[in-house]
Amino acid sequence: MTQQNPDQYLVYGNPIEQSRSPDIHQIFASKSQHNISYKKQLVALDDFSTAVSDFISQGGKGANVTAPFKEQALRLADVLTERASLAGAVNTLTFKEGKIFGDNTDGEGLVQDLLMHGVILKQSRILILGAGGAVRGVLLPMLAQNPDAITIANRTVSKAKDLCQHFSDERLSACSFDETTGQEFDLIINATSASLSGDLPPIPASIITTTMVCYDMVYGKNKTPFLQWAREQGALKVIDGLGMLVGQAAVSFAIWRGVIPDVQPVIDVLRTAIKEG
Ligand code: NDP
Repeated sequence: MTQQNPDQYLVYGNPIEQSRSPDIHQIFASKSQHNISYKKQLVALDDFSTAVSDFISQGGKGANVTAPFKEQALRLADVLTERASLAGAVNTLTFKEGKIFGDNTDGEGLVQDLLMHGVILKQSRILILGAGGAVRGVLLPMLAQNPDAITIANRTVSKAKDLCQHFSDERLSACSFDETTGQEFDLIINATSASLSGDLPPIPASIITTTMVCYDMVYGKNKTPFLQWAREQGALKVIDGLGMLVGQAAVSFAIWRGVIPDVQPVIDVLRTAIKEG
């Protein structure tokens, strides 16, 4: 029996060496018996659209897009989902019927990870720290879970206010880190990049409660400074962003292949690799 050529996918970025997407998608594919090839491609900053058209002409079926090309991918797509359009960024491209379809799966990845950890989002009061691209990407899927309120606190408060205006939803509000004092939350999501430089967003310890879940989009070998601090303040549960990373990949895989892959085995493999590496 002849083996068909695998369907081709890849991830674009600059840098790209650090990307775990090929490993994640290959595990999804082998567990669901899909025959795919998934590579990573370093693209020069001014070469993104050429790289995409070359890949389409070689028969490529789809691509993930990481920094700094997510906005360029948005402009390149012929058809956008609402969540990609509102996020202003595309991380998943699908090439079919002579068109480029653009989606953003980051928010759904976060939501699925939170739900998998048993976090109740409906009627919850959520504090999001940060107002960068990641927050913009997750707001619509988070709002779709029907929380009572989402407060966005950011170092540069004007950026948090801009996001509230952009999404124009009465459940959204913006404030400074200081202004979170005295407010009550069920869930805090650290979507700043502070953890990457070993920093802690300066929020008051008094807002951490023993029933609260604290989530950091960053993940690593050890608990992030935010998660370590939250645990010391007595938070009920602390969760890092590895599940979000695998979750967004799972949604991309489902878009391309029509099956929802099991994320837990992949999270387990990556967790071990990160601990060992
Ligand atoms: P951006 O660069 O767009 O935004 C960075 C945000 O962090 C801004 O709000 C910035 O505040 C804030 N910030 C940076 N340093 C500090 C600090 N020392 N103290 C307080 N606030 C700070 O990044 P993204 O939004 O794209 O990504 C944010 C984080 O989320 C990154 O660490 C990224 O790795 C992670 N991420 C994880 C994903 C996953 O799958 N797990 C997916 C996407 C992102 P200001 O506006 O004032 O500069």
